[in-house]
Amino acid sequence: MQSSKLKVTFMLAPKIQTNFAPGASRIISTNLVRNKKLDVQFSDFALRLYHDYIENERYKHYFHEGDMLNTYGKLSLEYTKYGSQLYNFVKIPKHVYQVGIDEIETDYVIVSAVSIFSFSFVKQLIESGKKVILGGAVINTYPNVSYVRQYFKDMNTDLDKLNNNLIIVQGFVDLNTDFYEIIKEWKDVVLPKAMYGTIYDCDYDYLMESKYSPNVVVLPLSEGCYWGKCTYCDIFNGRENKVDIFYNDHLAKKIQNNINTIVKNYPNCDCLNLHENYLSQKTLDFINNYIDFPNKITKLYGYTGIKFLTNDRYTKAFSDLSRGRLKVFSLLGADGVNNFTLSQCNRGFSFRDIEQALINIGTYLDKHFIFSITMIKDLPIKNYLDTYKSNEYYEKIYYFLSKYIWTTFNVNYLILYPNSKMTQSVVNGSNKYMKLLKNPLDIRSSGIHYFLNKYLKDYNSMIDPVIRSLVPFYRVDEYGGLLPQDDEIQPFHGVV
Ligand code: SF4
Repeated sequence: MQSSKLKVTFMLAPKIQTNFAPGASRIISTNLVRNKKLDVQFSDFALRLYHDYIENERYKHYFHEGDMLNTYGKLSLEYTKYGSQLYNFVKIPKHVYQVGIDEIETDYVIVSAVSIFSFSFVKQLIESGKKVILGGAVINTYPNVSYVRQYFKDMNTDLDKLNNNLIIVQGFVDLNTDFYEIIKEWKDVVLPKAMYGTIYDCDYDYLMESKYSPNVVVLPLSEGCYWGKCTYCDIFNGRENKVDIFYNDHLAKKIQNNINTIVKNYPNCDCLNLHENYLSQKTLDFINNYIDFPNKITKLYGYTGIKFLTNDRYTKAFSDLSRGRLKVFSLLGADGVNNFTLSQCNRGFSFRDIEQALINIGTYLDKHFIFSITMIKDLPIKNYLDTYKSNEYYEKIYYFLSKYIWTTFNVNYLILYPNSKMTQSVVNGSNKYMKLLKNPLDIRSSGIHYFLNKYLKDYNSMIDPVIRSLVPFYRVDEYGGLLPQDDEIQPFHGVV
């Protein structure tokens, strides 16, 4: 007698900017369709949410029209470089999530989440009676799964449903991960170390078949974060973050095949994102020596960092990525441009390193490269004069780099996520320059709370427990005096 298969749905959690296909959707899709004990359905709700009217509607609902249209000159707020930050912070009304939940036909739902901003949706999913298997990048930022459970408790998730309807999967899924067994066991699980090479055997992705099939596809080619110690970072802080890639001819063939299949299968794909983290010298050498990018690929995302670019050999290898035809997009995280701020954040590079990196960019890179300089507002500063000097220096960077490459700014306001070292130091009172606030509505609130206070129509939007979990703070200078926000001292929104 034939045993019936277990019916499951797989989906990316909404709140991901899904104009690109993350590696996880390909790895998990392929894994699931190969599992003979599972009958899998896929939901592209996250893609549709990002693309359809809901997006515009919620902006209208939460933001003043004047701000939307005239934030700084000609650009609408949502299309500025703040867009990505706003995307996370505008609460999606419950009934919008319900549309996606109502479409799910199976009892079991596997959800991959990249940030805590997905948790409101997951809470609603659990409470709707679905049995949720939750994994993804955000789960791996927690020391263990009990922190994730506590987070859902703090969100007032129905306790019975939390205990009965959720299991959490921590670790990295590979082709061998058996979701049938995980579901059968029905308890939280930490996966064994992933077989990294098997991810290049994954060539099916449900996103290929969506009418919103993405044009940017992630090809995991990174060894993770080389540093892992930035105090505001909740992604790698204090955790093992290195991925060992042992390149050899066999792996080179696998990766090349994988690229060729990706290009063939995603109808809109013209851009490969070489993973979300830094490209090391080893990986760059491998790509330059072994990998061909088919003609359909005209763009790459390849992330680099100041410390890498202080090295001549590295910068030359980075310049070889373009092969004289590909446009290469990169983020350059300067964040703060003075030694005081950099050391407070333990960024791992100095002001002198920034200058050396700029010289190397000017020497080796050309207009095939489009760098977005990431700055963070309301980081700790020694005194308000530092803000003037920093803004002046950002402008100088822009005019210097524009001679050689295309340059833009990616402006963010500091967020104290629940897990970062910086957050801990603010909460336990040991941070000399950043002080805890009880109330995010406090007029002294800095960073993301200042930003939300300024742009949101009303703070009811902040009832969302995820937003409330971001720790409010204010800044003081070297003498303990209250510092205004960077914007109040001197606004800087990039150079137009
Ligand atoms: S912010 Fe720092 S720790 Fe986090 S990924 Fe970047 S370099 Fe690594």
